[in-house]
Amino acid sequence: MPNRRTVDMLHMSWTEVAEALEQQPVILLPIGTLEQHGPHMPIGNDPLVAQYVALRTAEQTNALVAPPINYGCSAVFRNFPGTYPVKPETLANVLRDVCKAFISQGFRKLVFFNNHGGNEFVCEQVARELKAEFGIVIGNVYPWNLGYALMRDTYDDPNKAYGHGAEPETSAMLAMFPEDVLLDRKESGGYRPFGGWQVQGYTKVSVPGQSVSGTVYLDADEVAPNGVTGDSSMANVERGRIWIERVVGFAVAFVNQFDSVTSASAVNGRSPVA
Ligand SMILES: [Zn+2]
Repeated sequence: MPNRRTVDMLHMSWTEVAEALEQQPVILLPIGTLEQHGPHMPIGNDPLVAQYVALRTAEQTNALVAPPINYGCSAVFRNFPGTYPVKPETLANVLRDVCKAFISQGFRKLVFFNNHGGNEFVCEQVARELKAEFGIVIGNVYPWNLGYALMRDTYDDPNKAYGHGAEPETSAMLAMFPEDVLLDRKESGGYRPFGGWQVQGYTKVSVPGQSVSGTVYLDADEVAPNGVTGDSSMANVERGRIWIERVVGFAVAFVNQFDSVTSASAVNGRSPVA
């Protein structure tokens, strides 16, 4: 494994950062949230995996991993112990300030490694603000979503396996952080009716006679009491290793592409607006 000092800014001195800046690296910014992921997995699932994938990616590209933002927007899980959401405007303010600090020192290539769906609209909003203000294009890599897209062929029925706190999250965590997965507490789960609604998701309900869902905003514990919405019995470490290979493989290809396109482009390539 490469020296962590060469890819992880948390471990670097200011003189090393100054030297790295001369190479105009791609800055990978892990963004997570703290929320329940079933009885068997850590509340830090999203940020731990964001940082893991970012570090493996940086080792194989011209990139540095920025110190992560671990708090995010998880209000849907707010009634589970261990879920500590911040407001979208709070995350937006932190994310905007952090990016502006990097940009003001001359970094022009930023890729978010946001690993939580509830943060997505905040990331897009801030990226669009920064594009308008500084004329730079910002990218995003979403490891859990990539895993959903890239792992379907490894399950007989991915729709049954997939879900929050289920698959492919549990397999991926078994391969990345085996000591953090409590196999004796592993449970499967799904949605149950709530308050007269037939529930299909935290915000999705059946409408009689209709083939598309309606939207109501429910709390996760009301519709999935153990926090799990899929079949975690299919989890195993071999699947997790495939997850790492495919997700990191895509992230490396994307960051290399981002690096070469932005190097050649007048958009991110011009000198910083301080
Ligand atoms: Zn999440």
